[in-house]
Amino acid sequence: MEKTLVILKPSAMGRGIAGEVITRFTNKGLIIAGMKMIQLTDAVLDEHYAHLIERPFFNRIKTSMKALPVIVMCLAGIDAVQVVRTMTGATNGRNAAPGTIRGDFSMSGQENIIHASDSVENAKIELARFFKPDEIFDYTPASMNLLYASDEI
Ligand code: ADP
Repeated sequence: MEKTLVILKPSAMGRGIAGEVITRFTNKGLIIAGMKMIQLTDAVLDEHYAHLIERPFFNRIKTSMKALPVIVMCLAGIDAVQVVRTMTGATNGRNAAPGTIRGDFSMSGQENIIHASDSVENAKIELARFFKPDEIFDYTPASMNLLYASDEI
């Protein structure tokens, strides 16, 4: 099963909506393969947001991401990376489509509730950044034959 990384950002934790967001993923049929609560640091954020290092808001997003502990999740499913990105919505919550997580929970370009890996390649890199191998679990939920047709799995 394909795996992807989701981070429930401080904007989700501080607003008490982490459970609602997790429920969206499990209602969809994504499988929680790993989950833990951590405090982000400058070192890990410098790596995670390296593509934004030259942007004027770089230090501001780091401060925001360190403001509260976060929940990191590994979600598994067929095409999990693309499915989770579609559910996440556009970066700026004000532009994100209704029905997406950012579209339904965020009014901000920065405080946009979750991070989700944007490609299969980056998902592998990001999962290795936040999880040890023994913190990710491969298991088959009892509902598997209701989530997928037999020729899909
Ligand atoms: P995404 O999270 O949608 O993959 P990016 O990788 O471009 O988007 O940006 C990472 C995070 O940096 C965003 O989720 C958001 O929190 C923050 N960010 C991006 N662009 C801006 C911006 N123009 N102003 C403030 N914060 C931003």
